[in-house]
Amino acid sequence: MAAEPVDLLVIGGGITGAGVARDAALRGIRTALVDKGDFGGGTSSHSSRLIHGGLRYLEQRAFRLVVEASRERRVLLTIAPHLVRPLAFLFPAYRGARVPAWQLRAGLWLYDLLAAFRNVRRHRWLGRKAVLRVEAGLRERDLTGAGLYYDAQTDDARLVIATMRSAAQAGALVANYTEASSLLKPDGRVRGATLRDVLTGATCTARALIVVNATGPWLDRVRRLDDPQAEPLLRLTKGTHVVVPRQRLGNAHAVTLTSPIDGRVMFALPWGDQTYIGTTDTDEDASPDDVRATADDVIYLLRSVNAFFPQARLAPTDVVATWAGLRPLLAPPRDLSASDVSREHRIVESQSGLITIAGGKLTTYRVMGHDVAERVAARLHEVDGRPRPAAPPTDRLPLPGGETADLEVLVEAAKARGVLESTARHLVRSYGSESAAVLNRVDHDRALGRPIVAGRPEIWAEVVHAVEREMALRLADVLVRRLHLFYETGGSAAGAATAVAASMADLLGWDAMRVAEELADYRALADRARTFLKETPRSNP
Ligand SMILES: Cc1cc2nc3c(=O)[nH]c(=O)nc-3n(C[C@H](O)[C@H](O)[C@H](O)COP(=O)(O)OP(=O)(O)OC[C@H]3O[C@@H](n4cnc5c(N)ncnc54)[C@H](O)[C@@H]3O)c2cc1C
Repeated sequence: MAAEPVDLLVIGGGITGAGVARDAALRGIRTALVDKGDFGGGTSSHSSRLIHGGLRYLEQRAFRLVVEASRERRVLLTIAPHLVRPLAFLFPAYRGARVPAWQLRAGLWLYDLLAAFRNVRRHRWLGRKAVLRVEAGLRERDLTGAGLYYDAQTDDARLVIATMRSAAQAGALVANYTEASSLLKPDGRVRGATLRDVLTGATCTARALIVVNATGPWLDRVRRLDDPQAEPLLRLTKGTHVVVPRQRLGNAHAVTLTSPIDGRVMFALPWGDQTYIGTTDTDEDASPDDVRATADDVIYLLRSVNAFFPQARLAPTDVVATWAGLRPLLAPPRDLSASDVSREHRIVESQSGLITIAGGKLTTYRVMGHDVAERVAARLHEVDGRPRPAAPPTDRLPLPGGETADLEVLVEAAKARGVLESTARHLVRSYGSESAAVLNRVDHDRALGRPIVAGRPEIWAEVVHAVEREMALRLADVLVRRLHLFYETGGSAAGAATAVAASMADLLGWDAMRVAEELADYRALADRARTFLKETPRSNP
């Protein structure tokens, strides 16, 4: 990046930046992207992992957003079938609930209508008995029925990696752990940035004709590098999730609930043998670097779910893992509550030419990438008169691993190579058609076919793949975002951390001091996610 100027420098490697870089690079725009942490390490790996039309936005009458998000749901199910999967939701109706059954039934019709009846399947209404047959753990008292409808679930962190790799395959230069610490403005226009290698402290400058700020909840900070007086664009709200063993709820579906505490819509979502519950939605002043689950967040989520799954009796000590993120939402008029803030996106250009993309959702990232790349192409045309390139077919080009829709064929192919069914399914869900590349490593070294944690499907070949193909540079990159063992193994996979660090040390040439640092930082991350256990909640459990 320091060697030659590029057309476009994207600051921020969450889903938004990745989508911009992919679209721009596919147009032939010389593109570079930096992230100060790991790709997707910000909000984009702390979401509810839903690719959804957004049923609850119907209450806000945000119909345009629902139409757009429903279309994107269909697109992502097609271009990344391994990472974006249909998910059946049950929305139970209770007498006296904030959302009455008639409203829910009308809402589900409208939801299908706004998806032009091209959702995964059309919704159905189930009577009380049928609901209890399919979701036995739900509270019976006051239950009148439930809507069964469809949305999609994704692996948010891996969706970012796949999009980033697609950008890189199209020619983008991408670097994680590289912070844009100041902006270059040689002629009053933003023409690049000073970059700092976060791992070594080394600095360099990257020159670019256009700079895009795609830093999510950090974006007002980056705008102030350009203009210290810039008014904030965002109102940050925090969302927390907790993970509990799925057998405690016994939920077969994703379940949509309205919290009895404040009437907000929330979810209990299945993820293998776990269920994650979320989310909270509260205004947050903390730095995006310091956000975490508090005891209040955890109590709110558990109390809400316990009210619908009375046998679960979840307590804070049942929580296996937590995550929390900040929504980079556009600042609304002051009299709206946090949940009413718009999820739509906006492109803002400063006087000195810094282009900022604000708002949006994981679901609509491809559209955001397109809109920003259009703006960049127009500006490049103004700068040097070059023709505007045609928009690439990002709605049809598969993301890496998404070339085939028939995942069962891939699962069978993996099994035929001698791995257990659970590992075959896990590999296909994570890497799609690239699961074959992971298994090629096992052909060269049988030891790489062994599980990282006994009884779990993840294998050692994935650690090598994460480092060599997915730019993992730190222990948490592998355990938290590439493999998710941090969330899915009790005790934040602390037992596996030492061995994974040793493997990464071999691959990346770490000395003993670096290994110790990585382990210490990883432990601190795990402690932080469980700090809530030591706090006294303000609300009574
Ligand atoms: C709790 C929660 C649940 C959500 N659930 C859903 C959902 O289910 N479905 C959905 O569609 N959307 C969901 N969203 C919204 C969605 O997750 C976000 O809109 C999206 O992830 C934002 O991505 P981003 O790339 O803009 O920001 P981020 O992912 O935060 O990326 C910004 C990046 O910029 C980097 N950065 C910051 N400063 C610098 C700098 N100076 N130099 C270099 N890099 C820098 C950061 O390290 C970070 O990686 C949810 C959000 C939250 C908080």
